[in-house]
Amino acid sequence: DRQVDATSTAEERELEAALRPKNLDEFVGQPRVRQQLSLVLQASQLRQAPAEHVLLSGPPGLGKTTLAMIIAQEMNAPLRISSGPAIQHAGDLAAILSSLTEGEVLFLDEIHRISRTAEEMLYMAMEDFRVDIIVGKGAGATAIPLELPPFTLVGATTRAGLLQGPLRDRFGFTGHLEFYDVDELVLVLRRSAMMLDLRLSPDAFVEIASRSRGTPRIANRLLRRVRDWALVHQIHTIDVAAAQAALDMYEVDERGLDRLDRAVLEALCLKFGGGPVGLSTLAIAVGEEVETVETVAEPYLVREGLLGRTPRGRVATAAAWEHLGLRAPDDAQQ
Ligand code: ADP
Repeated sequence: DRQVDATSTAEERELEAALRPKNLDEFVGQPRVRQQLSLVLQASQLRQAPAEHVLLSGPPGLGKTTLAMIIAQEMNAPLRISSGPAIQHAGDLAAILSSLTEGEVLFLDEIHRISRTAEEMLYMAMEDFRVDIIVGKGAGATAIPLELPPFTLVGATTRAGLLQGPLRDRFGFTGHLEFYDVDELVLVLRRSAMMLDLRLSPDAFVEIASRSRGTPRIANRLLRRVRDWALVHQIHTIDVAAAQAALDMYEVDERGLDRLDRAVLEALCLKFGGGPVGLSTLAIAVGEEVETVETVAEPYLVREGLLGRTPRGRVATAAAWEHLGLRAPDDAQQ
C-alpha cells in the first residue's frame, strides 16, 4: 500500500479511468510525443488507412494506456486491451488477432513480456496482416494462412531496450514518455480536482505535485488522499497547510520520498557513515528484502541524486545528508 508506488492496484483502475484525458488536447505534457503522434494520426486519416503501429516506452504511470485509448478515440476505432504476460502461447495471440475488426486498435501492455512464439507470430501480423495457424502436431502439422484486417498495434513497455530488435523495428513510431515536471503535474492535478469537484489553493497544487515523483498516477492518488483528509477535517478549500498535513500523515515527504526511501537513506548515513556499503547489508539494516530495496526504493533515490551506485557499494550523496537535515562529511559524493 505504498502511496508512491507508480503501478496501480485493481480497485484504483476504475477511479483512474474516470480521470483519463479523452483526447490529445486534454493530455498534459509530453509535447514532443503529442506532436509526433498527432501527425501520425492525421496522416493515417488522410490516407484513410489505420495508423502505423505505435510503441510507447516509459516508466509506469506516465500515460501509456491513456495514449492508447486516445489513439483509438481519435481514430474513431474500437480498442482491444491485452498484455504481454497474458499471452503465453501463440494460440492466445492468434485468438485475439483473428477476432480484430478493420482498423481496430490493439493495445499490448508490457509487450516485452510476450512469449517467444507469440512474438514471432506478431512479426508477420504487424508486417503483412497475416498469421499462420498451426494445425496438428509433429510431422503432420500444417500451417494454414489466415488474412487479418488491417489494425494498429499500440505496444507499451517500461523500457524500449527490453524489446528484441525485429519487434522494435516493426513499429512505425516510437514515443518515449518522460517524467513530468512540477508545472505539468499541477495541470494534471487541476484537471482532476475539477472533475472531483475539489477546491485547492494554487500552492496546495504545487505541494502535491512536488511530492508526486514526476508521475501523474501518483499525483492523482495523492490528490485523493488529500481529498479524504479534507473531508474528514471538514475543510472546504484545501490550502498548502492542509495538503502538507495530509501527505505528512501518509509519510510522503516534500520530495516524494516515503518511509522506505527514507529508511534506506537514514541507514546509509547513520549506520554506515554514508557508505559505500553493499546492497544486501543495506537491505538487512532496513529489514527488507534485497529486491525490494533495489527495485522499489533505489531507482527514485538514484534519479533524485540522493544515492549513488559505485563498484564498492551504495553511497549517500551530499544531497542525501542535506535532505535528512544532517551535516555531510567533507568527502561526501556531490
Ligand atoms: P501507464 O499506462 O503509463 O502506466 P496510465 O495511462 O494508466 O499510465 O496513466 C495513469 C493515470 O495517470 C491515469 O489515471 C491517467 O488519467 C493519468 N495520466 C497519465 N498521463 C496523463 C497526462 N499526460 N495528463 C493527464 N493525466 C494523465
